[in-house]
Amino acid sequence: MIINIPLILIFQMNGEDSFEGICYYLLVLIIILVILYIGLYLYQRFVGSKKTPQHICNYCGRMVDAVSDCCYAPVEEFFLYRKCRLCGKRCAVVCKNCKRKIF
Ligand SMILES: [Zn+2]
Ligand SMILES: [Zn+2]
Repeated sequence: MIINIPLILIFQMNGEDSFEGICYYLLVLIIILVILYIGLYLYQRFVGSKKTPQHICNYCGRMVDAVSDCCYAPVEEFFLYRKCRLCGKRCAVVCKNCKRKIF
């Protein structure tokens, strides 16, 4: 039994050669996806958060700085929502000059 175990392992390794190939391919694919995701996250975190978001205000009629409606602080913009940078809650954006809601 003890001698047989390494033989079985070698047989399994040879027999599942194509299976391991698929596993390796999937692993590489997952690593690429993770790197892309981290890259996107870091981009949003450091590049996207540095610039103050600008929006057209219907009342002022020009591009204005968008601030949060809760604290009138700069907002962090994500794909589907915005977050107040002061209190960290989800918020709507208002015009920095006239304090009226944008959109
Ligand atoms: Zn305005
Ligand atoms: Zn706030």
